[in-house]
Amino acid sequence: MKDLIKQLMQLQDIDSRILEKRLFIDKVPLRIFEVDEPLKQARAELEKITQKTEALGKKKKDKERLLEEINEKIKKMKSRISDIKTNKEYQAHLKEIESSEREIGGIEEEILLIMEDLDAVVREHKEKERIVRSEGDKIDAFKKKLDLEVSAYEKELSVLKEERVSLASLITPDIYRTYMTLLGSGNGVAVTKAKGEICLGCNMNMPPQLFVEVRKNEEIIQCPQCQRILYYEEEQ
Ligand SMILES: [Zn+2]
Repeated sequence: MKDLIKQLMQLQDIDSRILEKRLFIDKVPLRIFEVDEPLKQARAELEKITQKTEALGKKKKDKERLLEEINEKIKKMKSRISDIKTNKEYQAHLKEIESSEREIGGIEEEILLIMEDLDAVVREHKEKERIVRSEGDKIDAFKKKLDLEVSAYEKELSVLKEERVSLASLITPDIYRTYMTLLGSGNGVAVTKAKGEICLGCNMNMPPQLFVEVRKNEEIIQCPQCQRILYYEEEQ
């Protein structure tokens, strides 16, 4: 195999690895954003439950205040009994007290129901808090793992870039330019294998005579379809 073909293959290998690592690093914010979604949702649900708890607490307090007012009213009514002169007035007064006491019974029942709701909501609140904590822990662990991977990749990238500079200096400028153009137009693949008269870059057939030339690995031969530089490798 001619050195030039070998160098182009090595350059492609380095560029593919650089591209893969860059892609990984570029995708990190998106991956964090995606992983963040369950935590955001859990926080929103916790907020909703908090509001529900507060609303129920306020409702309970309002009912309790009302209860106090009616109790106060009953106490006053009872204290006035001795002032009542006629039986008719007395009966009416008793009726009023009874109706207020019935009202109290109703309110007490309402308070019990509110307390049951509150119990359920408080339990739910605790559960949502637990979910928020565990989702937070999960994201922290994920971010830590990503940070380690990114710094390892960045180190590898700087080594690869150095290798690339010395390798690229061996290739003549016009061939290097062609390579770079193909790298851009070929989605990161400028040099590709030919296997059984097929270009593995675009999966198209090539003329048999061209494949014979490619097999020699002696000069730069481009795929007639995708223009990528072709090389041949003996099957293991
Ligand atoms: Zn091709």
